[in-house]
Amino acid sequence: MRWGFIGASNIAERVAASLRKLPGQAFVGVCSRSAERAAQFARDQGFEAGHTELSALLAQGLDAVYISSTNEQHHDQTLAALAAGCHVMCEKPIAMSLADAAGMVEAARRAGKVLATNHHLRAQATHQAMRRMIAEGKIGRVHGVQVSHAVYLPPHLQGWRLSAPEAGGGVVLDILVHDADLLRFLLGREARRITTVTQRNGMAQGGLEDGAMNLIEFDDGILAQTHESFVARDAMTRLHVLGTEGSLYAEGSLSQAGEATLSWRHDGQVEPLPMPKVDLYEVGFDAFVRACAGDGQPLATGVDGERSMAIALAGLASAASGQARLID
Ligand code: NDP
Repeated sequence: MRWGFIGASNIAERVAASLRKLPGQAFVGVCSRSAERAAQFARDQGFEAGHTELSALLAQGLDAVYISSTNEQHHDQTLAALAAGCHVMCEKPIAMSLADAAGMVEAARRAGKVLATNHHLRAQATHQAMRRMIAEGKIGRVHGVQVSHAVYLPPHLQGWRLSAPEAGGGVVLDILVHDADLLRFLLGREARRITTVTQRNGMAQGGLEDGAMNLIEFDDGILAQTHESFVARDAMTRLHVLGTEGSLYAEGSLSQAGEATLSWRHDGQVEPLPMPKVDLYEVGFDAFVRACAGDGQPLATGVDGERSMAIALAGLASAASGQARLID
């Protein structure tokens, strides 16, 4: 496929390394607001050219674009790419409002193109195994989930996320969207209501939150509690799914590294389940490339991106009002 990258971002470098592992991918161009950054990124990552005008990139006869600009640009860039006949892999959150997200999904449907969301945690072997075991009833009826996704935001990412509400900064739109999507993926159920309390620890500015705890109510009465933070130094991520007949416990799975430990606790025993190490972005982009060729679905669709946003936006509304919020 002929690829264009929109956004000369940190994550785009990571994704380019993974995409390079897939056969038949051509790195045609990258678009950045700065000519210097565009040229540098193109040189470093092996793209044919750097552009500062999106229209110039989209005129290159692309098959697909990967959008990893700051969040407030995702909507307009997606619509432009779809109009130019491209499939789109968009970063999360896919937009800044639910109406915009719905518009993107509708535009992709009308154009007959694939719109995917880069919810990379679906690619984690640990999460795929947990999802299978939950569906097979291996831990009985699931009634609760505990998610600890509190991390220390590395210094090179301490930019717009901490200072720019207009770009969709804050830990809720950055990390809760991933947790919300992962819970939908693991449970195969929709979230109906959320209660969120946010925190300001001094890392984020401009009224943005850098910590959040949430209680999310899913179909069938399943309760999930999640914790997201930018200020948790040396913390380990944890994911514990609780059933009436046992539990599944993962450590380290909520990250960009494709390795984690998983144990199945049942009948008074702890059974370690060895999991293969995977490149999360390679797995996700492989599914996307196949979906563009008519083979299956991306790991997370545009609708999945819209649903994870709905949960996160309801969480922000809950935090602002001090009350539980129904999820649209
Ligand atoms: P970055 O801050 O690295 O990049 C965002 C934009 O900021 C870039 O497109 C670039 O704009 C500009 N920029 C980047 N570095 C510099 C710099 N040194 N000086 C000036 N401008 C710069 O963002 P991230 O890579 O962290 O995030 C991008 C998107 O990807 C977000 O939507 C985020 O939510 C998502 N993301 C998803 C992850 C996942 O695993 N799914 C992981 C991390 C992020 P320009 O291109 O115009 O030059």
